[in-house]
Amino acid sequence: MDMEALFGELGRTIADKGKAAASKARDLTEAVQVKAQINAERRKLQEAFAALGHLYYKEHWEEEGHPQQGVFEAIREGEQRIRDLEEKLKDLEDVTICPECGCRAAKEAVYCSRCGRKLHPDQEEDSQKEAEGIPALTVLEDEKTQSD
Ligand SMILES: [Zn+2]
Repeated sequence: MDMEALFGELGRTIADKGKAAASKARDLTEAVQVKAQINAERRKLQEAFAALGHLYYKEHWEEEGHPQQGVFEAIREGEQRIRDLEEKLKDLEDVTICPECGCRAAKEAVYCSRCGRKLHPDQEEDSQKEAEGIPALTVLEDEKTQSD
């Protein structure tokens, strides 16, 4: 093999290696994109499963002896813990939560700034009823019939 042929071969080898490296880099870039696509699909799937779970829970949570009763109970307990923590947060932040839309409002606010609902109807009703001499239990029953 003469010098020219040797360098020619060497050049080709380097060029090939360069091409291989470039294609390797392209593969890695594409791999990152494919991973992102997989994650996006997984998120969509999780949302769909969660939506299905919500529907299923709403339909079956009251069924006696349901095989998923343990899961239902865990959900109810979780919801209760969230309510307790939200109460705690309310006290810490000195805010009140709108019973209609769930948004936060200053404790002294009378109406929700988002949906316009009266924020402390219970207190006013309580004091009104108490002033009229009606016991608290009746107040609770009144509220039940109103919401039904
Ligand atoms: Zn509201």
